[in-house]
Amino acid sequence: MKLSVAIDGPAGAGKSTIAKIIGEKFNLMYINTGAMYRAVTLKAMDANITEKDVDKLINLIESLEMHFVEDRLFVNNEDLTDMINMPTISNNVSKYAAVAEIREILVKLQQNIAKKFNVIMDGRDIGTVVLTDATFKFYLTASNDKRAKRRYDELISKGLDVDYNTILNDIIKRDYIDTHREINPLTKADDAIEIDSSSMSINTVVESIATYINSNTKNN
Ligand code: C5P
Repeated sequence: MKLSVAIDGPAGAGKSTIAKIIGEKFNLMYINTGAMYRAVTLKAMDANITEKDVDKLINLIESLEMHFVEDRLFVNNEDLTDMINMPTISNNVSKYAAVAEIREILVKLQQNIAKKFNVIMDGRDIGTVVLTDATFKFYLTASNDKRAKRRYDELISKGLDVDYNTILNDIIKRDYIDTHREINPLTKADDAIEIDSSSMSINTVVESIATYINSNTKNN
């Protein structure tokens, strides 16, 4: 049986950092589904396609081959990881991610990957839609301030000139769109374990998830 771990939660809760480490520990392929929505956003913006132009968006996605090499996303063999994490993409991605047709294509792609490999996937709808039968489901949260501070530190460390309050407002706005959209909104799966990482270090979160997986795997 395939092993799958779903990690959902709002922006900046530490999902990708933690998913990457847990993936290495348990030998799981790490799939960052947010990166896929970001890549579609980047390509659509480059081609001047708005979120309202659904036919063009479908054609665009069908022309994109996406695969991960460790935690880096390659689209048509180009590594887009750095570009898709820029603030312009963060500020626009939720509009595109709310388009039903985009979600349908990406969800199928994600489900097909999980059929072939043992995966750890992070996103917004993994436990509720993509992998409803995931072996383990976690829902990671943190306070708005903590999440904004982490994103701020990350961007500053990359040499970007960013403002803390702008980041905080962007995160709040993105969470609002992600939790209020009609299709697959961000919500905790009933059977997901919730972890509030506001006052926890990355190591502590990793340890608690790893301990949970280990103890429940042995009991199966
Ligand atoms: O995880 P990350 O913050 O990079 O995700 C970027 C955006 O992609 C989210 O704010 C959300 O709008 C969208 N997303 C989604 N469903 C997922 C993963 C990401 O709608 N499974």
